[in-house]
Amino acid sequence: MAVTRTPFIAGNWKMNLDHLQAIAFVQKLAWALADAKHDFADAEVAVFPPFTDLRSVQTLVAADDLPIAYGAQDVSQHDSGAYTGEVSGAFLAKLDCRYVIIGHSERRTLHGETDAVVNAKVQAAHRHGIVPVLCVGETADDLEQHGASAVPVAQLRAALDGVDASKGLVVAYEPVWAIGSGQAATPEQAQQVCAALRAVLAEVAGDDVAASTRVLYGGSVKAANIASFLREVDVDGALVGGASLDIDEFSSIVRFKK
Ligand code: PGA
Repeated sequence: MAVTRTPFIAGNWKMNLDHLQAIAFVQKLAWALADAKHDFADAEVAVFPPFTDLRSVQTLVAADDLPIAYGAQDVSQHDSGAYTGEVSGAFLAKLDCRYVIIGHSERRTLHGETDAVVNAKVQAAHRHGIVPVLCVGETADDLEQHGASAVPVAQLRAALDGVDASKGLVVAYEPVWAIGSGQAATPEQAQQVCAALRAVLAEVAGDDVAASTRVLYGGSVKAANIASFLREVDVDGALVGGASLDIDEFSSIVRFKK
């Protein structure tokens, strides 16, 4: 039976937009989505603001019942205790975060997050009923030495070791060389790796989970190229960095036409 996966368009704000800017942004995004209702493909739209914005975003989304999901950009692998500076999944769940980004390449590179840490964070998210948006991707060196799929596939296997993926998962394929570079992968490259990732999901979690899990592409996605990625059968949406900070650009992205 064919499964339809709702396209997922996610804005990773990184360390941008304070809580006041977040309120203004989410309000404008809601207007753009209301405008789009009858003309455009229906996607699930999510924003990933800094931790300090989440309470404000929660309040706004709940008060106006906005069709915008939100989540955090990271989560602690621990649930509570002496971990200065960390934020637990329990706190995120209290803020009604539906999602959390885990294993973004900036965290792997700048904060030394290993596959083992990423795995522990995926398990932490699941303990609190939060869906991980698990990022995997190869560097330019990896690409040259091993091709595009090997590293993301290995990262996905490691992240899912001992994990029940049926508890909820989104996978984001983000080639490190494409992030913030203006040089996106081609839709064909993205399709090839996303298909390889889906094959891993089938192997470790079964065909049903593989068929229902959204696999996103990320890396220099913008309004001008979003549709070309979404036309690929195994690309179910996008994780958008820089272009998610500009309300006009992000509004155009969420209103993509295939
Ligand atoms: P970019 O970032 O869209 O600015 O390339 C994507 C990401 O890091 O998630």
